[in-house]
Amino acid sequence: MTEIEYKIYIDDVIRRVETARLSVSGHHIVKIVAVSKYSTSREIEKLYKIGQRAYGENKVQDLKSKANKLEELPLEWHFIGNLQKNKINNLLDINPTLFQALDSLELAQELQKKLLAKDMTLDCLLQINSAHEESKHGFMPQEATSSYKEILESCPNINLKGVMSIGAHSEDKAIIKKSFETTYEIYKNLPNATICSMGMSGDFELAIECGSNMVRLGSLMFNK
Ligand SMILES: *Cc1c(COP(=O)(O)O)cnc(C)c1O
Repeated sequence: MTEIEYKIYIDDVIRRVETARLSVSGHHIVKIVAVSKYSTSREIEKLYKIGQRAYGENKVQDLKSKANKLEELPLEWHFIGNLQKNKINNLLDINPTLFQALDSLELAQELQKKLLAKDMTLDCLLQINSAHEESKHGFMPQEATSSYKEILESCPNINLKGVMSIGAHSEDKAIIKKSFETTYEIYKNLPNATICSMGMSGDFELAIECGSNMVRLGSLMFNK
């Protein structure tokens, strides 16, 4: 694809996001995070030239190497993967814009300790396993609200901004929709939460219709 063809292609993706958000309300703003985990720093540069600023990675090592290679560009980095405790310091060294996958109280406590030691704060989202799937990380819906409040109270260096969830792994649109509704219902009742991150390349329109205001698009943004 030439740069012009790619720009036309991305315009079409943005139009799809626009159509979905306008079906909710003209005031409903949705942010696109381009998930670059299957893409190179060259490909990120191409997308940056078209205007995309926010990128997401799910491995600390990959985030680090791409952020280093592209450090002259004013990019925003989101960490969207499972964070192992022994990688916390590596992640903090990069100082990401948002850690979207805070998935246990133990991780929150460990993260709090490391943040305090470095005299830093970090914006985070609580990950919710809204479809109760064995294969996924995150808090179960029934414990999410109390855990969110517990982290707010006991981890002053963690700035909880809202929630993140991956739609149910299903062919049935009704089941996926229900998983998004479950997450949105929790989000809506949390104190001061402003980010509801749900929706990927295959289900972002449905996620937006269910209230998502941040979509994480990988294969779609990089045309893979
Ligand atoms: C890979 C990934 C995405 C993007 O997936 P696509 O289907 O390529 O859009 C979004 N969120 C998370 C947590 C991911 O791991």
